[in-house]
Amino acid sequence: MGLSFDPDALPLPIGHFIGGRLIAAEGTIDMRRPSDGHAHAGCPLADAEMVDQAVESAKAALKASNWAGVRPRERTRALHAWADLIEAEAVTLARIEALLSTRPVGLLVAGDIAVAAEQIRFFAEFADKEGSGLVPTDDQSFGMIMSEPYGVVGAITPWNVPVATAAWKLGPALAAGNAVVLKPSEMTPFSTVYLAELAVRAGLPPGLINIVLGDGPTTGAAIAGHPDVSKVSFTGSTAAGAAIMANIARTGIKPMTLELGGKSPQIVFADADIERAASAIATSILANAGQACVAGSRLIVEAGIADALVEAVAMRMRDVRPGPTWDETSRYSPIISERQLRRIDGLVEAAAAAGAECLIGGRPFDETGYFYQPTILTGVDRSSPAVREEIFGPVLTVETFRSEEEALALADHPTYGLAAGLYTADLSRTIRLCRQIQAGTIWVNRYSRSRDHILPTGGYKRSGIGKDLGREAYLANRKSKSVLIGL
Ligand code: NAD
Repeated sequence: MGLSFDPDALPLPIGHFIGGRLIAAEGTIDMRRPSDGHAHAGCPLADAEMVDQAVESAKAALKASNWAGVRPRERTRALHAWADLIEAEAVTLARIEALLSTRPVGLLVAGDIAVAAEQIRFFAEFADKEGSGLVPTDDQSFGMIMSEPYGVVGAITPWNVPVATAAWKLGPALAAGNAVVLKPSEMTPFSTVYLAELAVRAGLPPGLINIVLGDGPTTGAAIAGHPDVSKVSFTGSTAAGAAIMANIARTGIKPMTLELGGKSPQIVFADADIERAASAIATSILANAGQACVAGSRLIVEAGIADALVEAVAMRMRDVRPGPTWDETSRYSPIISERQLRRIDGLVEAAAAAGAECLIGGRPFDETGYFYQPTILTGVDRSSPAVREEIFGPVLTVETFRSEEEALALADHPTYGLAAGLYTADLSRTIRLCRQIQAGTIWVNRYSRSRDHILPTGGYKRSGIGKDLGREAYLANRKSKSVLIGL
């Protein structure tokens, strides 16, 4: 089946998904298709009362289904069935996702959606393998650590990879025996609603997944501050993460996982395989047009190879062509909104005013929609706005170094520590630098996640607290209780 579709004829699930059914609601928040800038649909806004209804539905579903108390393999089985249906419905899901997001439909079925299904299966398998344990005591006592789910988990996700991020939140929370109230971004909400519909069709108890649509200050804040939401899992900007921490401090103390922004370096030594490094670097900044938390947006290269490497990267970035996300041949993403397009352009202009030279790109494409040219800025240092700020666009800065110490100093960002790339053939240097680089993920001689979901992802510094993926994400959805019995 072809994947291309008519953007004006695609049915969308417009509404909240509570108690296992779609509650149709009027779309009051303006939404634009990034590919052509046309107004489309509109996102409903759930108020605190609607969020409360979703939380009550989650609590009722936990009770009625005994989700936390069934044989754990039952949870595994149900989640596998959901993953199967996600794969079977991948084309519909991909189209809903592509219409209003930056994700080209041609990349979704085998990419984001296949990976999301796989990650749900990955977490499903923890349900009957991780649990409580006995601890050593004297023979007059019996000690154990009991592991339990939280109950209702609140999740809030960003717009940049909506289905994949929802799977990161829902998979571990549900496998661990919780129910979820999730708010997707108001810019890309409908694929997450459809994902929840598929869960119910696959046999998950209605009400276990509730999706409420709306903005951050109204709907997101009501979830984070709700007294019956026992844990919050957030992915988004550092500023919103800080607002959520403040909200939680004000309304009650509860655990939270925060996956926040980044400004990740890619450090290339002269002994690296230049062509391989160039490919990885270009791919990382072109992917989703740089709108990825882990975008490797700061190239830090040994002076002797700088010209050759930068030219090899530029060659791979020059020829991209914009195309709408609903055309299956499109590969290069639009920017999510006109506001974000202007912000990227403003930061590039500010960097130029501060002395940066624009080697390629540097402005929006002339084509319709919010597309920005792949851009390389040289002549920058850490005072440049392009080096300091998370641009969240296809903009790569270049800095050079002459020693390992200088490379490390340049790589260290005052605010962020999400990911880092390191390209070298020297094993000792690799280990040395991996010990010193302050980032939650380091990729060596590559720059991308693999499908090894056991590797957790999360930030150092203000890039976040806690992890998504891996065993850690599963365990973060359970709390532990120490029990000591006197015999
Ligand atoms: P954002 O922070 O503006 O919004 C993220 C989500 O939070 C949205 O659903 C939004 O409605 C909600 N929100 C905003 N303010 C809130 C508040 N006060 N209370 C509760 N909810 C609130 O981020 P965005 O523009 O959607 O996404 C881009 C950002 O996300 C970038 O900074 C990027 O680095 C980050 N991100 C991080 C990761 C990661 O794994 N670390 C992954 C993807 C994106």
